[in-house]
Amino acid sequence: MRKPLVAGNWKMNKTVQEGIELINEIRPLVEGASAETVLCVPSTSLYPLGQHLQGSNLKLGAQNVHHAEFGAYTGEISALMLKELGVEYVILGHSERRTFFAENNHSVNKRTLTAVKHGIKPIVCIGETLYEKKSEQTGQVLTTALRDGLEGVEDFSQVVVAYEPYWAIGTGKTPTLDQIAIVISFIRDTIGQLYGEKNSESCRILYGGSVNPSNAEEIFSLLDVDGGLIGGASLKPQQFAEIVKAAK
Ligand code: PEP
Repeated sequence: MRKPLVAGNWKMNKTVQEGIELINEIRPLVEGASAETVLCVPSTSLYPLGQHLQGSNLKLGAQNVHHAEFGAYTGEISALMLKELGVEYVILGHSERRTFFAENNHSVNKRTLTAVKHGIKPIVCIGETLYEKKSEQTGQVLTTALRDGLEGVEDFSQVVVAYEPYWAIGTGKTPTLDQIAIVISFIRDTIGQLYGEKNSESCRILYGGSVNPSNAEEIFSLLDVDGGLIGGASLKPQQFAEIVKAAK
């Protein structure tokens, strides 16, 4: 059985103090929720907010990790460092990382393998741009991302895939329910073809891109959707809590 998961991506928002205040608002609202709930906070907040989350049902996530364990990689953070802070999840290959920081399926693959090796569950983001959608390349883009980005992963119960169309992120636009259902089933089938049936069944697949309290329930009720990756709405306690509760 796959446990539903909702992960908030705070991106480069919230100081430590603001993060503490946000958590104080979110925590009572999500008590008793059935979904696993993760807050992916800025690196500078990981330690203090990790301390602040102790004893709650909220888990700590990071927004990136480097593939090497240590070394001359100025500005980067290793899986060992994240693990030491109690990080349980890490977002990898977000469209913003791919667009602004030149990440690609190969760098995502190395980071994914390192995260898994150190017991941190990667949330690997894949999705098509508007141009790729319009030119009917979605299937090919996703297949390539799954093949190159997840190569070498042995146990997909330790990996989360987030389908995030670039054009839906932060835009208020979402694919239709039918489109989400078709694409997420396609992702599950492709994982099956590339990595075997067992892995296809155990991998949690999220939808991300302009999820809000009005559309969360219908998106999360789709057969192959195991929850969501939430950007903007994760900074609004009431909205985030409603989204978390929609994942059952
Ligand atoms: C995201 O950044 O991963 C995301 C899904 O953003 P939003 O929910 O704001 O579209």
